[in-house]
Parts: sequence; structure tokens; C-alpha cells
Amino acid sequence: MHELPLLMGACDLVGEVVKQNKIRHIDALVLDVGEVSGVIPAFLANYSYIVFDEYDFLRGAKLLINSVKATARCLDCGMEYDIIPNHGKCPHCGSIEKQVLTGRDFRVREIRVTDERAPDRVPSP
Ligand SMILES: [Zn+2]
Repeated sequence: MHELPLLMGACDLVGEVVKQNKIRHIDALVLDVGEVSGVIPAFLANYSYIVFDEYDFLRGAKLLINSVKATARCLDCGMEYDIIPNHGKCPHCGSIEKQVLTGRDFRVREIRVTDERAPDRVPSP
């Protein structure tokens, strides 16, 4: 259940951006969540109702999850493939030895606001 502290961390980061840019309220928070990040989007969604209530600028905001596809490079034959549909196994040679290329992500992708002065992107930490 590490979703709760992760979500709170993301909200704290957004809080910094909100302060710097004098944003009053956020309509939606968009998070990148990788398929092999170990973060369960349904838990994030459940917690968002509790966590968002703790922050004035997030009260009533929507949480949107952008799922990031998990890809890997086979360490035996070098092929790049999608991890989930191939069950973690190289579709070319059958090896499970791999380097994960994408899909471990957990980060703030975007904050959506109606205030025209506000940025729509959050720089990576
Ligand atoms: Zn292979």
C-alpha cells in the first residue's frame, strides 16, 4: 500500500508549483503510472478522495492516470518488446533476461487549471 505516500508526495510537489505560479485551484492532476511500477491505479483513485481533501488547491479535483507501457530489451538477443502481453518473456528467443526500458514511471505528468497564467506541465523532479 505504498500508493498513499506516493500520492501525497505528488501532491506536495504540485503544491510547490501551485505556490510558485500563484494558482488557486487545480481541476485535474494527471499522473504517469508505469505498467511495471508496482503502483495500482485503482488504489490511487480510491486514495485521491481522501488525499485531495487535505489540500485546498486540490479539493474536488479529478485524478487522471496515464498508463505508461512497459517495454524491455532482451539481454540475449537484443529484441525490444512489450512486457505485459509477452508475460515478461522475449517473443523472439524466449529469454526472461531483460533490461526494462519503460514502464517503471510514477510521476506528475500534468496539472490542469482554468487559470490562464498557469503552466500545464510540471517539470520532472
Ligand atoms: Zn530475446
